[in-house]
Amino acid sequence: MAQVQQIEIRTSKREEMIDITSLVRGAIKKTGVSAGVAYVYVPHTTAAVTLQENTDPTVKTDLLGLLARLIPKDGGFEHAEGNADAHIKSSAVGASQTIPVEGGRLLLGTWQAIWFCEFDGPRSRRVLVKVLDG
Ligand code: ZN
Repeated sequence: MAQVQQIEIRTSKREEMIDITSLVRGAIKKTGVSAGVAYVYVPHTTAAVTLQENTDPTVKTDLLGLLARLIPKDGGFEHAEGNADAHIKSSAVGASQTIPVEGGRLLLGTWQAIWFCEFDGPRSRRVLVKVLDG
């Protein structure tokens, strides 16, 4: 069983999406697993991971913009830390993605990339990658 690989990221804004596809590819390569399933997991409560287009940057601008309109920072939430919106966005987008691996390669679609979603930065963040051989 391949070990869990850890990717470290330093975010620079309160909210941003960072393309981590090449970092995940590197983590998968380190496992030596050529066929199986990759779990990409974010162990944080105010961040998330999603799959989305990597060509037109307005796609991520629109996604972050819609989340901000639906879940505003000053939305009258009860959580006293002032980052309730970030917690809710984290749950809405989700903490993990599952991607098939074949021939040592992630089977992403032509336009897909793996995006780390920061909702309460800037912070130091971790992404864990586990590949199940099979
Ligand atoms: Zn909080």
